[in-house]
Formats: sequence, C-alpha cells, structure tokens
Amino acid sequence: MHNKITNRERNIAIFLLILFIGYFGNNTFFTHVHYINNIAIVHSHPFGGANHTHSSASLNTISLLNSVTLISAVSATIGIIVLHILYTLKYNRCPKRGSIAITHYSLRAPPFIG
Ligand SMILES: [Zn+2]
Repeated sequence: MHNKITNRERNIAIFLLILFIGYFGNNTFFTHVHYINNIAIVHSHPFGGANHTHSSASLNTISLLNSVTLISAVSATIGIIVLHILYTLKYNRCPKRGSIAITHYSLRAPPFIG
C-alpha cells in the first residue's frame, strides 16, 4: 500500500475543500428566515437582499437540498462507523491511524486548574 497521493486525488481534495468552504460560508453568513402562513422557513443563499421572496417551487427545492445534505451526512457517519466495526471484527484489532476517517480518540481529560 502506498501513501503517495496522485494529482487527481489532490485535485479532488481541493475541489471538495472549496465546495465545503462555500457551503459553510453560505450557511454562516447568509442564513435568514421567511414567515409563510405563520411557518418559519430558515435557509441561506447569498443573493436576494433583505426583503426578497421565494416561490413555493424554490422553497421546495431549498428544502430538498437541505434534506439531501442532512441525509448524506448521517449516511456517511453511519457508514464510517460500520466500516470501523467491520474492520475491527475482521482483523481483530483497531484500524491504524489514518486508515479510516475515525482516527482520533480524545481520552484525555480536560486540563484542571485548581
Ligand atoms: Zn431566502
């Protein structure tokens, strides 16, 4: 097994990093609330100004995209946990650091100043 990353892998990593920064920045800086029929709809997007409106189709699209993001994050987390368990059961030991995404176990207690 080699640890050297290829140009393709590096480009994919850079793309995913830029995508994540854009997603995180959008959710951090452009979150706002719309009240439609006394229902608060919270979402984020970088355009439209303070008093913009949305059609029901665009609200449904935003809701669907948010749901897909949530489901993807939960699925990835469950997948990583299952892979970790399967690896441990198959090889009767924990995976090496860096071989699976879950690699950091913070077993140290927080510092105490008394
Ligand atoms: Zn909006």
